[in-house]
Amino acid sequence: MKDPLLCAHNLTKTFPGCDSPVIRDVSFCVYPGEVLTLVGPSGCGKTTTLRTIMGFEQADVGEVKYGETLLQGGGRFVPPEQRKIGFVFQDYALFPHLSVLRNVMFGIQGVPKARKRAIATEVLWMLGLAGLEDRRPHDLSGGQQQRVALARAIAPGARVVLLDEPFSSLDPDTRHTIRGEVRMLAERAKMAVVLVTHDQEEALSTADRLAVMRNGMIEQLGPPEFVYNHPANKFVAQFLGRTNLIECRADGKVGDTPLGKIELNSEAAGAVTLSLRPEHIELHKPIEGKPTGKVIAREFKGHDMTYHVRLGSAEYLVQTDAHCRFDVGDPATLKPRTPAAIVDDSRAEPTKNIRLPLA
Ligand code: ATP
Repeated sequence: MKDPLLCAHNLTKTFPGCDSPVIRDVSFCVYPGEVLTLVGPSGCGKTTTLRTIMGFEQADVGEVKYGETLLQGGGRFVPPEQRKIGFVFQDYALFPHLSVLRNVMFGIQGVPKARKRAIATEVLWMLGLAGLEDRRPHDLSGGQQQRVALARAIAPGARVVLLDEPFSSLDPDTRHTIRGEVRMLAERAKMAVVLVTHDQEEALSTADRLAVMRNGMIEQLGPPEFVYNHPANKFVAQFLGRTNLIECRADGKVGDTPLGKIELNSEAAGAVTLSLRPEHIELHKPIEGKPTGKVIAREFKGHDMTYHVRLGSAEYLVQTDAHCRFDVGDPATLKPRTPAAIVDDSRAEPTKNIRLPLA
């Protein structure tokens, strides 16, 4: 395994006048070429985490390391301008009176002006901004301004870049393009990128690994597919997309649910809560011997369809392709196509309980 470029260990921060910390025990590492996404609801501490890593805030407890260099911890505090970390703000924060080239040259220190100009020109070229060097920021589109902000962050030689909701004000197409460019840049330049977003789709599609935060803490960290398919708890399951939460009794890897006996992603014994995503359920004509529900609504979305199915006292969401045709009022049987994820085993019998390891 490669060595991490940046590591945060147990970062905890309480603002003056606040009773409790806004981030608690936040720990993660980012590797060369990797995009790590911090995602979570508004106010959960994403920006504070980035600002603490950058040195704009000082953590009460915890360490930040850049490679082997300690930036914060054990009484040491390296100021932001000496951290060699690039930071891109949500609102770009470009200097309006300076040209694109001068904006990018701004943070490059310790080299003659001609060298600064050469570095800035090369970075602008790399980000597809060649030819725009003499423009002012207000003569650029939002996407171009965001690329200039990114160029300014990496031009001083930063190998770690922190992006705080950098795409939120861009239109969906530009957002999509720049997300791809950031990924490519991280891979090619072997940079470590930490991206903050509250958009779960952006987090899932952009990240190599994502960390889901709530109330100042990381609830789960892992590859997007793993976290999406094996959420550690109800919050993570619901934050990353629609899901069906099902109460059941587990016996080993089998859950006795209103849908019938279904496979579980790990072993448990006793009362547990499951998460089963709508696209992980198939809808069938009634199958003999299996519980039968009734379609009570459907949402056509062009490329797929979501059915609302009442079964017993509960309502389930099932997502199929747009060709699976059930009408409202039709009877139907629900059949999981993947094992359901256990998201709450706090009421299960502890001794028999074996959870999946964290990714
Ligand atoms: P958003 O997605 O809305 O930007 P966030 O997850 O980035 O939210 P933070 O900006 O880190 O959240 O804020 C976390 C909490 O800390 C919030 O309750 C916020 O009000 C509080 N907070 C942030 N900065 C300060 C400060 N300087 N003084 C006191 N409280 C602060």
